[in-house]
Amino acid sequence: MKITTHINNSPNKTLFSFELLPPVKGQSIQGIYDAIDPLMEFKPPFIDVTYHREDYIYKQHDSGLLEKVSYRKRPGTVAICAAIMNRYKVDAVPHLICGGFTKEETENALIDLQFLGIDNVLVLRGDARHADSGFIPTSGGHAYATDLQQQVVNMNNGIYLHEDHDTAFKTQFCIGVAGYPEKHFESPNMKTDFSFLKKKVEMGAEFIVTQMFFDNSKYIDFVDKCRKNGINVPIIPGLKPITSSKQLISLPKIFHIDLPEDLSEAIVKCKSEKDVKEVGIEFMIQQCKELIKAGAPVLHFYTMSNPGPTRRIAEAIF
Ligand SMILES: Cc1cc2nc3c(=O)[nH]c(=O)nc-3n(C[C@H](O)[C@H](O)[C@H](O)COP(=O)(O)OP(=O)(O)OC[C@H]3O[C@@H](n4cnc5c(N)ncnc54)[C@H](O)[C@@H]3O)c2cc1C
Repeated sequence: MKITTHINNSPNKTLFSFELLPPVKGQSIQGIYDAIDPLMEFKPPFIDVTYHREDYIYKQHDSGLLEKVSYRKRPGTVAICAAIMNRYKVDAVPHLICGGFTKEETENALIDLQFLGIDNVLVLRGDARHADSGFIPTSGGHAYATDLQQQVVNMNNGIYLHEDHDTAFKTQFCIGVAGYPEKHFESPNMKTDFSFLKKKVEMGAEFIVTQMFFDNSKYIDFVDKCRKNGINVPIIPGLKPITSSKQLISLPKIFHIDLPEDLSEAIVKCKSEKDVKEVGIEFMIQQCKELIKAGAPVLHFYTMSNPGPTRRIAEAIF
């Protein structure tokens, strides 16, 4: 079922959902089930699965020479989505990314997803490889999320890369895109960033999932600005409970977001990592209560495949 249908079917209720990372190569699917099982009692109508571009690693040969090798650390997004749909009967939402895929590979992946009965995709540019200083598009692939989105829209209209579209099957993917209440870090300003988000919605994006944030006023302002600019699709807040003191530095660095002073001060005062986790959970419970009051359609948790803190929050909220 489309995410928009799930939301429309629950007009007076905030839904619960979450995101998982595929396990590191060499681990079993059981890790995914272990990350989902503790959260199923909160009845997620959908579960997102991230996609990860390949990175480079260096292998040292006996001669001492270093060989640069392309290596995908977390493969398996499509198969995990299939396993989730099969085992839990909830909608799985694969993330689709530009990086690492040619247009042909994207088309084939979308055909697989359609055959699996997957109705929703979250369309993204994807992160840069760790070894690169910025995002480098794959040769024969897409440079921006809007380019990838256009390919999905084309397939929804029966337009494939090399087929006669009069006879081609029309897919029916419900398309979601990313939104940044604190601006995407590469955008020169909020207005420019916003213009691309608006373009995505005009191209047919039916829902937005936000980058994580810790200051609800940023989400509320963002939604307000969207509405004033004619963006009327559901805006799903992305939420990440703080679980360690290191995240005071890593979250702003990786995700280009601010942490509110009261939260950072409370974390600095903690005497142990256990205390930090408690502060993070309590802060997020309050954040969720406010977001429900503000009319958030869904609370979407970035679990990083660690269900414990999200479960504690869901117990207090749902
Ligand atoms: C909810 C969510 C889920 C995510 N999941 C994943 C994941 O599974 N895997 C992963 O690798 N990363 C993921 N990311 C990270 C994301 O891929 C990065 O934030 C990436 O840097 C930008 O992705 P985007 O889709 O917003 O890109 P885009 O929309 O392409 O935007 C990238 C930048 O270019 C600008 N821009 C956009 N369109 C154009 C255009 N047509 N011309 C010129 N400039 C343009 C934007 O303003 C922005 O600054 C996720 C992010 C979010 C918020």
